[in-house]
Amino acid sequence: ARWLLGYLLAVKIPTVSFSASEQNTTALKEFDQLLRRVFPKIFSSSLVQHEMVGNYSHLLTVPGSEPDLEPYMLLAHIDVVPADEADGWDAPPFSAQELNGFIYGRGTIDNKQSVMGILQALEYLLEQGYTPRRSFYIGLGHDEEISGPQGAVNIVKLLKSRGVKLLYVLDEGLTIMDGVVDGLIGPGALIGVSEKGQATVKLSVSTPPGHSSMPPRESSIGILASAVTRLEKNRMPNLFGHGPERATFEHLAHKFGWPYRMVMSNLWLFSSLLSSVLEGQPDTNAFVRTTTAVTMFNSGVKINVMPAYAEAFVNFRIHSSQTLQEVLKLIKSTISDERVKVEFVSGFDPLPISSYDEDTFGYQIIKKTVHDIFPEVTVSPGICVGNTDSRHYTELSPDIYRFAPSWYKPGDSARFHGVNERISIQNYEEIVLFYFQLMQNSDIRNLPGPRT
Ligand SMILES: [Zn+2]
Repeated sequence: ARWLLGYLLAVKIPTVSFSASEQNTTALKEFDQLLRRVFPKIFSSSLVQHEMVGNYSHLLTVPGSEPDLEPYMLLAHIDVVPADEADGWDAPPFSAQELNGFIYGRGTIDNKQSVMGILQALEYLLEQGYTPRRSFYIGLGHDEEISGPQGAVNIVKLLKSRGVKLLYVLDEGLTIMDGVVDGLIGPGALIGVSEKGQATVKLSVSTPPGHSSMPPRESSIGILASAVTRLEKNRMPNLFGHGPERATFEHLAHKFGWPYRMVMSNLWLFSSLLSSVLEGQPDTNAFVRTTTAVTMFNSGVKINVMPAYAEAFVNFRIHSSQTLQEVLKLIKSTISDERVKVEFVSGFDPLPISSYDEDTFGYQIIKKTVHDIFPEVTVSPGICVGNTDSRHYTELSPDIYRFAPSWYKPGDSARFHGVNERISIQNYEEIVLFYFQLMQNSDIRNLPGPRT
């Protein structure tokens, strides 16, 4: 089928972001050519305006027939993280090979399913002669995996210079969870209403160098190791209930079996019980606190020389109810050793929380669209523990959502940025239908139902 062929070709192009300074630009150029080839209606349409931004990112503008309706925007990214077949892939990572109904390849769920799904949906609408009432934008970043400095940042600048305000933004992020949450009966779609913040700090210790035959009581390595251990042992506070993760459980409560349901529906009583269960597993622990990850530790040059210098890098992912400043203060007080120099490398606050109430257009339209395509799925707000291009869009819209309807089943967490990333052919078709439906659902003027 034509809709599938375009997607397979997209997965085959190795649009890899290797590092902050190195990307496969040949592949990015090739990807641009592919889009023009597989979506002839979009690129020949007199309605759609297409612009290249930051050399390889794409901005599409689809003007609606009713200019007083506030526009919305769909985001996705073209670049992927590296993949090495030798790590144990069942099919080569840029082969887009099919095995048992699944397409294998780097980028199949992060995030070429959205890139191609959004454009395929628009292509279909144009084929049918459809003109939207509400204007919308499509932003396809080429450097999301290295935090979007050329793509998303410049698209936002351009839209700001044009005075654009967005009703809502939908980017990748959370998915449809199926069988991965203990006690949850049936699948649940989590719509990301915020993202955790980040802080990276560099810790360093300098001591006088010397011979290893007469060592001091504490070496630079020992001092630094104790500091790092203190950070790991004294985790950041459990903040369950202080951020939107509480709403996730409240929205899903009725879908849990006994005894979970009783716990979820009575969080006023069981909040501390649930939070201690959640902090027991790394994946759920990430929802209840600022996490601490020691990612680099360097020191030493020779086996008989006391090193004069030791350094380590620690990466924190900040819970919604904390700020970057609070976390930096806690880091210093936890280490509390003047010999350890603490330097701030980079970071940002957690993202604002987008609204998810009954009157919020974006959230309710996304929710309705999930129900249209997946009637059996429960929808709930959620928090993204990773970051996306959408974090650059906060000045354009208060309501930013992170969700793509990929199915996430037991074992799938290892596929994101890992080995055997894949999508079922059926799921890709559902994704095209989801965006096709979303574009039409977004065309209503107001949400239906009683309004006060
Ligand atoms: Zn991604």
